[in-house]
This record gives sequence, C-alpha cells and structure tokens, in this order.
Amino acid sequence: MFIELLNGDYNIMIAEKIQQKAYELGIHKCGIIKPEAMIDYAERLRERMDRIPNGERIYSNFLGFANIKEKIPWAKSIIVLIFHYGHYILPQGSIVKNYGKYYLVESRFNPDAGERKKLIEFDDYLHALGLKTAWNEHPGITAMRWAAHKAGLGIIRRNNFFYTEKGSWINIAALATDIEMELIEKHSLPECPADCNKCIKACPTKSLSKPYTMNMATCVSRLTTSNAAESYDDATNRCIGKMIYGCDVCQDVCPMNRGKWENKDVFPDLNNLSGFLSASAILNAGYEDIENNLMKKFFYIKKESLWRWKLNAINSMVNDYKTGDEAHIRRLLDDEYEIVRKKAEWALEKISLIGVL
Ligand code: SF4
Ligand code: SF4
Repeated sequence: MFIELLNGDYNIMIAEKIQQKAYELGIHKCGIIKPEAMIDYAERLRERMDRIPNGERIYSNFLGFANIKEKIPWAKSIIVLIFHYGHYILPQGSIVKNYGKYYLVESRFNPDAGERKKLIEFDDYLHALGLKTAWNEHPGITAMRWAAHKAGLGIIRRNNFFYTEKGSWINIAALATDIEMELIEKHSLPECPADCNKCIKACPTKSLSKPYTMNMATCVSRLTTSNAAESYDDATNRCIGKMIYGCDVCQDVCPMNRGKWENKDVFPDLNNLSGFLSASAILNAGYEDIENNLMKKFFYIKKESLWRWKLNAINSMVNDYKTGDEAHIRRLLDDEYEIVRKKAEWALEKISLIGVL
C-alpha cells in the first residue's frame, strides 16, 4: 500500500481509518483518489467516441464525470469502494439465462440488500468522523471503473469490465468528501492474455467490436433496458436471444472469471420474485403487477415504458420457443399498447414461419 502525504499526518491517519472501516464492514476493496485524478477520463471517452458510429451522441453525456468539481465544488477526495456480488445464490433453471446476473442481485435502491446496508453504514461512519459526503446510487458521481482503476483496485479488461481478484462480479461506489486525502492501492492481477479475444468473438451484437471498444447503442444490456418506444429489426431480435434484461456474455466467456461465482448466500427478495421472472409470467402479468414486482428492482425500465418487459419476454420466447408458448403470445394481440400488439403479431408470424404452430 502506498500513501501519498498531502495535508500532513492527520489526513493519512484518517484515510487509513476509513479504509480499515470499509474492510471491517466486509467491503471488498477501498481506495481514495483526488478529484483531479479523473480529468483524463474525458480523453479516454473521446477516444471511444471516435472509434464507434455516433460516438459523440452516445457518450458525450458522460463527459461531466471527468470534472467532479463542476457538480460538487467542495469535493477534495473521492473514496472508491468495491462490493463483490458474486457470492449470491442464483435462481435455478432457465431464469438465470434470461437476466444479467448483476441485475438479479442488484443492491442499488434496495434497503434490504447487504451491500447497500454496508454503504449506508460506511457513509454514517464518515459523517461521524466529521466529513461531508456526496454520492448517489445511480448514475453515480463519476465514472466508476475509471475511478477504481485510478485507485489501484484492479484492472479494466478488454471487455470494458473492471476486475479484481474476484473477477468482474463486482460493483463500484464512489463518495466525494470535503477532506483532502489519497490512498492508492496496488494489485498484482495479470493483463489479458496477448492472444485472447474471447469476449469480442462472443458478443452477440458485435457491440464489443475491438478491445475496450463497446457501442452502448447496440449492447444487449442497453437494448433490453431501453425506454425508447422502438422495436428492433429481425437480426437484432435474433442476437438478443433469450435475454429479457441485461447480458453477461462477454463476462461469462472470460477466462478471468472462471470459477469465480461463489453461489453461497441468499439474496433478499430473489426467491419471492422468481415466480415473476420467466417470459411466460411476464406475458401473463398485468402492468400493475410488473410495476409492483419488477420495476423497483429492475429500475432502468421506467413506469411509462413497462411495455418493454412484454417486448423482451415475447422476443425471448420466440428465440427459445417451446410447444404451448404461442398461447401466451396470442393474448397480447389485445394489449393496451400498440407496440406490444405489433410485436405479438410479429412473433406469431415468426412462429408460424418456422413451422411450429
Ligand atoms: S454485455 Fe453482451 S451485448 Fe454488451 S458488449 Fe457484452 S456481450 Fe456484447
Ligand atoms: S475474454 Fe480474454 S480478452 Fe476478453 S476480457 Fe477476458 S481475458 Fe481479456
């Protein structure tokens, strides 16, 4: 561990105490950076914008993450915390293949989730020390992966995900404070093997086209959580496959994640929700049920776009058709949303074309 002297011994002591508290709480990793450490994030982002079509339009909103002081002028340090979520037990059967695992064990906005409780307790501790803090659960106060990289907590791999010794099954939180501190960690994680491109080859939509080059507009995670009132073309629908919310393909195929999911602890609310997660359950659910059971946890799809759940479930069913599924789709011909009715018509046509009706 390397600690840079900034404002004398007092600040070093506070930084160490803060890190120690994080580890006492069971937080996986903790480091502290100066706000200025994020400035070069803008340069990295511009490089990415240049590499993908419509890059400026897609990524320019994130430029604000580079200059934290614009939004939080009193920020003097950023504490970066890493939480490990790969210890949770995932649902059995097909459901786990329809969802990005992170979203199944999502702690943000969930008062019962262990990771969120730790974050709140950690924040309370900072206040008890007399620190002012600013953070939010979504979208966060800065670019999390870059901040974690700057804090020396791990490595950003070619699939763009951040990895620690526990693989990429982690999430990152950042808290601005009004005390000048810096605590940079060191790691000994290996780089990606020189000849590895498994993640790029496996990406179903080719959204991940080159190392560190991902087009958010075509990523399955983005497509399945979009609030835009649009249906996708046939090729895209096929690429989305069975996914209803999220995508883990470029992480699942990564050798650096092999054997890293621990599957040992129960996540609150997941068992109760299991009955609502299958494609058929979503197709048969009313919008009120979707709002009450799914919207809070899977918060990217907003209330005014709950029809996205139906579109995703229909698509998943078409790409994974089993005898009898047609009845679930047929009932959506009377759905209150035109976009859903059209998708149901499309699905019935697809099913009849492949000769399974
Ligand atoms: S999450 Fe899925 S769609 Fe997005 S880049 Fe990774 S493999 Fe491709
Ligand atoms: S699949 Fe290979 S290239 Fe991609 S992130 Fe993992 S190790 Fe790196």
